[in-house]
Amino acid sequence: MTTEGLIGPTQLKDSYRRVLDRIAAAAEKAGRRANSVQMIAVTKYATPDQIRALVEMGHAELGESKVQQLSQRVAMLEEFLGRKKTLAGAAPKSSIDDLPEKVRWHMVGHLQRNKVKQILPLVGLIHSVDSLRLAEEIHNYAARVDTVVDILIQVNATNEVGKSGVTGPAVIHLADQIDTMMHLRLRGLMTMGPNTENPEDARPAFARTAEIFSDIRKAKIGGAECNVLSMGMSNDLEVAVDEGANVLRIGRALFGDPPTE
Ligand SMILES: *Cc1c(COP(=O)(O)O)cnc(C)c1O
Repeated sequence: MTTEGLIGPTQLKDSYRRVLDRIAAAAEKAGRRANSVQMIAVTKYATPDQIRALVEMGHAELGESKVQQLSQRVAMLEEFLGRKKTLAGAAPKSSIDDLPEKVRWHMVGHLQRNKVKQILPLVGLIHSVDSLRLAEEIHNYAARVDTVVDILIQVNATNEVGKSGVTGPAVIHLADQIDTMMHLRLRGLMTMGPNTENPEDARPAFARTAEIFSDIRKAKIGGAECNVLSMGMSNDLEVAVDEGANVLRIGRALFGDPPTE
């Protein structure tokens, strides 16, 4: 991985285009349509300027891995979009043509049960449900505020020690339990590849997760809306698309590498 540092807001257009081109090429190679793969911009190392620039280009799917930062960024963007819309009254229409009506936030990092209440009103999809207790906590709170929450089960496909996620055989069991919870909607699975340089190292984990995803769908757990397979990051997105991912979570390839102290 190069350490060129963060990409400036003006160069972001190029990195955004490059990522979309990589996704399109990978989809084509796998015989899939490029628009069958959705990209979430993971902003954990991005600056507020970068995030605003990306949203101004029309990107509306954003992800964070920490509750605190997610809350701050939701507020920052709401303020920004509100201000833009007010200004737009006076400006020529074309200047805000790309601006999304609203953005959708994804919680992609480990979620502690005591943070559920804080995060729920802010996110469209939680990618990181990794235990029955967490699922129950989300369900209980969702029931109290009378809403239905979209979630993914995070899979630790290769039984890596010390890694978040539910291991292989337990996934179907948890999916079955979640399926009985009226205030949760099981949308699919998420996994992370091993943290290595070679993208091919991620293939076994992606293939295994895709297999479990297929089993869940065949068993009709979650129904037709269980259709999200979230896997693939900056380094291994091609392998993920090849193994069937339809949601990618991309950080560094868009925003650059975080400064190392
Ligand atoms: C940071 C992060 C990503 C993005 O990783 P990059 O290598 O920067 O693309 C994706 N998923 C999760 C859960 C993350 O924490």
